Amino acid sequence: AEEVGGGDKEVVREYFNNSGFQRWKKIYGETDDVNRVQKDIRLGHSKTVENVLKMLADDGPLSGVTVCDAGCGTGSLSIPLAKEGAIVSASDISAAMVAEAEKKLKLFPLSMLCNAREELPGSVMPKFEVKDLESLDGKYNTVVCLDVLIHYPQNKADGMIGHLASLAEKRLILSFAPKTFYYDLLKRVGELFPGPSKATRAYLHAEADVERALRKVGWKINKRGIVTTQFYFSRLVEAVPV
Ligand code: SAM
Repeated sequence: AEEVGGGDKEVVREYFNNSGFQRWKKIYGETDDVNRVQKDIRLGHSKTVENVLKMLADDGPLSGVTVCDAGCGTGSLSIPLAKEGAIVSASDISAAMVAEAEKKLKLFPLSMLCNAREELPGSVMPKFEVKDLESLDGKYNTVVCLDVLIHYPQNKADGMIGHLASLAEKRLILSFAPKTFYYDLLKRVGELFPGPSKATRAYLHAEADVERALRKVGWKINKRGIVTTQFYFSRLVEAVPV
């Protein structure tokens, strides 16, 4: 059976449009109706977003920089990036996630969205689209893909990493669940992932495998980070062309 790109992708889409949407909308939101595990994942994820914003800002101001947020979820990264003046193209396979991102965006007064609006003629509102990673095209200064590779087995992840790198001119930022925590993670967060046998659908990746996939397309890792809370593990890498 085909995995992502076939059967698995449909399962993932269906999950993030239904029960997964309900669950992750809460985790990525601000309401109090989350359990202890969800609250912990919310904290871990917000640290990942914070680290990415820091990584990006360290290289210089974001004003006018084009960013592709691949698998954007509810816009947790896209919206703050747009606030910094980045020109954000965000997309997700789930129409429900994209609709939620647009809803969140509306809660932001336009005047708050971009610190550098005066210098930037035209709109810098992030553009949200329903699209899967496979059909992304175009060129962006920066491509970011956070916590999406968990839906890709390593053999599919290699190709996806190459594809994302081909869209990026300057840098690619990826976060993924590190294989190191394999058994522990499967046991603990199995319930968070799609499919009848939920736990088996979460794919962990060894940093060495990600690095090899990047090297294959002429990219190298130049920054690394890790976020660990009780129930959330995420490795963060920034890659650049060699
Ligand atoms: N990147 C967002 C963030 O960090 O806030 C969302 C992370 S969430 C765990 C994973 C997201 O990946 C979901 O919104 C899901 O719909 C999306 N996704 C999964 N497979 C995808 C694919 N093949 N193409 C595009 N999006 C995908």
